[in-house]
Amino acid sequence: MGTTTLHGTPVVPGTGYGPAVRPAPRPTVSGVAAEVPEARRDAERERFHDAVGAVAERLDDRARRATGQAAEVLTTTAVMAQDPTLAGAVDTAIGAGTPAVQAVVAATQEFTRMFAAAGGLMAERVTDLEDIRDRVVSELLGLPEPGVPAPEVPSVLLADDLAPADTALLDPAFVVALATRLGGPTSHTAIIARQLGIPCVVAVAGLDDIQAGTPVLVDGETGTLVANPDDADAQQQVGAAGERAAEAARWRGTGQTADGHAVELLANVADGAAAREAAAGVAQGVGLFRTELGFLSASSEPSVKQQAAIYGQVMEPFADAKVVVRTLDAGSDKPLVYAGLPEEANPALGVRGLRIALDDPGILDRQLDAIAAAAEHSGSNVWVMAPMVATVAEASFFAERVRERGLVPGVMIEVPAAALLADALLEVVDFVSLGTNDLTQYTMAADRLSPSLAVLSDPWQPAVLALVKMTAEAGVRAGKPVGVCGEAAADPLLAAVLVGLGVTSLSAAAAALPAVGARLAGVSLAGCQEAARAALAATDPVEAREAARAVVDAA
Ligand code: PEP
Ligand code: MG
Repeated sequence: MGTTTLHGTPVVPGTGYGPAVRPAPRPTVSGVAAEVPEARRDAERERFHDAVGAVAERLDDRARRATGQAAEVLTTTAVMAQDPTLAGAVDTAIGAGTPAVQAVVAATQEFTRMFAAAGGLMAERVTDLEDIRDRVVSELLGLPEPGVPAPEVPSVLLADDLAPADTALLDPAFVVALATRLGGPTSHTAIIARQLGIPCVVAVAGLDDIQAGTPVLVDGETGTLVANPDDADAQQQVGAAGERAAEAARWRGTGQTADGHAVELLANVADGAAAREAAAGVAQGVGLFRTELGFLSASSEPSVKQQAAIYGQVMEPFADAKVVVRTLDAGSDKPLVYAGLPEEANPALGVRGLRIALDDPGILDRQLDAIAAAAEHSGSNVWVMAPMVATVAEASFFAERVRERGLVPGVMIEVPAAALLADALLEVVDFVSLGTNDLTQYTMAADRLSPSLAVLSDPWQPAVLALVKMTAEAGVRAGKPVGVCGEAAADPLLAAVLVGLGVTSLSAAAAALPAVGARLAGVSLAGCQEAARAALAATDPVEAREAARAVVDAA
């Protein structure tokens, strides 16, 4: 078998090697089916119960072999599959002559409707129920188990793209690398792979040509995928990468370059649990508290007291440190029921982020009251920033309200307009933070959730780096901090480039910080600046990565 090398966008560093596995398709079921004759209904019921038993047993078996969150998810799914209420509804339908497959589909639909209407945590169970339905239906139809396979040996998962429900089931002990044909650096696949620490490359051209079973080596640092590599060479690369990763994970300390230029390493969090976990690691504070994520299932606005309690949980683990709270970023990919958002044809360009407060600041004012109350109680050094700011007037509107409450105001730089106006914005606020996920989306005019635009949705795009540079230089002129809190800060090589461009803090998921700290500790500020110049001079992300790597690796 010849060796083939494919290229994609690297999103999680590390190397994985093993046979390729692919998800099996989900079954499609026709709604119409002949009635089951009365004499065969008992047997049909038995067929259904046998199928449920087989599905649950397989899930339990996988749970026993899995670790961590994957094991928990599998056990819960196995219990749900055997839920007596669901089984009762299916039994009744079969008793009335509906074939088992259609009975399962109809009963699941009834329950998912109820769950969706109930909202909140119940609504989150809808995907799980649909997953169980597909497994039971496939079993009844004699088809392979749908969705992500459960490999028995360490394997490389190849897919078009993965749904959040699929990725939650990934067990890093058995899925040692991940490569997708679609998906960008901010896709669900990338975010979950990063959390689980599974080496991952997205947007791999030609991935369809690789058959299941083919030995594949994935390098999440360079974005290459080699099919049928030399076995000894692949094993050696995996071993070396594993050692490098283990060493990076052990890194402890405060963020600084090899020559002592300080760069704050901060954590992105959404709740108290994540903040506690971050405080136990290397995070020097919180650089982005995404407040809206805790309220996505709330049907009405939480009271100031309730909000203050939630914010306090994030501040307490960082009682003596900096905590940057972002006010609600409602709208677009994060709908918030109580924000009363209008239906819009193009919500990413609509009323979202700070824009929801401009005409009616009530929700913002109450949130700021809650943040101020929590800040007073916690003793943390609380900074507050607004998402989706495009004008100086918006920044002034926000800063005034934040200062009235004795807090430190800032804005996110997420749209090119804000980067272009960074000097003027920094006259009215005390800091800015680059949200590179949205800055990339709006600079490249590429929907960050589109699975087909990965090459554009890449913070290594030189146009994005140029806007980062403009913003960081404005920060130097104003003598004010310029942070990065988008996914870009989680990429160790890009982190060095960002520091070279003049960024003063990096905020990322806590799990990503040791590798970032380790990489910065190995390169001087002058090295970072040279890497930044090399990346800026490139004409595309691939060239930018290679140019920066050449500089940083030589340091
Ligand atoms: C960003 O856009 O980079 C950012 C940090 O905000 P979010 O990802 O929550 O939109
Ligand atoms: Mg954003």
